[in-house]
Amino acid sequence: MPILDKERLRANLDEVIWNIEQARITVSEHHIVKLVTVAKYTELENISTLYELGQRAFGENHVQQLKERMELLDALPLEWHMIGTLQKNKINNLIDLRPSLLQSLDSLELAQDLNKKLVAKETTLSCLLQINAAQEESKSGVAPDEAINIYQAIKESCPQINLKGVMTIGAHTEERSVIQQSFETTHRIYESLQKEGANICSMGMSSDYQLAIKCGSNLVRVGSALFK
Ligand SMILES: *Cc1c(COP(=O)(O)O)cnc(C)c1O
Repeated sequence: MPILDKERLRANLDEVIWNIEQARITVSEHHIVKLVTVAKYTELENISTLYELGQRAFGENHVQQLKERMELLDALPLEWHMIGTLQKNKINNLIDLRPSLLQSLDSLELAQDLNKKLVAKETTLSCLLQINAAQEESKSGVAPDEAINIYQAIKESCPQINLKGVMTIGAHTEERSVIQQSFETTHRIYESLQKEGANICSMGMSSDYQLAIKCGSNLVRVGSALFK
């Protein structure tokens, strides 16, 4: 991936922000959507340029890369999200990084392991429960029909985990109606978890963030559309 100049990144960011604006307004004037820039494919320089352009929240999908970038960009007041599958043997490393949000908590077992290590380190971590809405073999996440029970079980058995909502990756297909269904499924689960305090519904990537917002997403994770 090349280092992009500031004007190019400004144009890409403006386009994404404009598209988010168009989509969110169809939901409600009051529907606010957060943009998390997925930096995994891009050069470190592009992250600092996006920061100069006003972007604050960045996501990575590997603990090692998250660590390197957090350290190298330590001087900037950035907000970091872990969005990729968390391996058990990386739990301690992740906790030590103190990310803003782990978006990819994908089982009760992982939650309980994480909770134990959070207890030992006397700290807490904000997380989203990842839902495998289209029930795809290639994806991690809990099944939609178990999501509510698992969410409640994590809340009850993992006091060091601060559960804030749900995350999903849209169905892997060209068919918009199938992608839409996967977002609607996740949004329905999110709605029933709002009484449990859920307030983040993370859905939508470069190819489908406008659709996701129309289905109620309030956090989009956009990578490639910003670095073209
Ligand atoms: C890579 C990634 C994204 C961003 O993907 P783009 O299609 O490049 O926008 C979003 N969410 C997760 C979990 C990812 O791994």
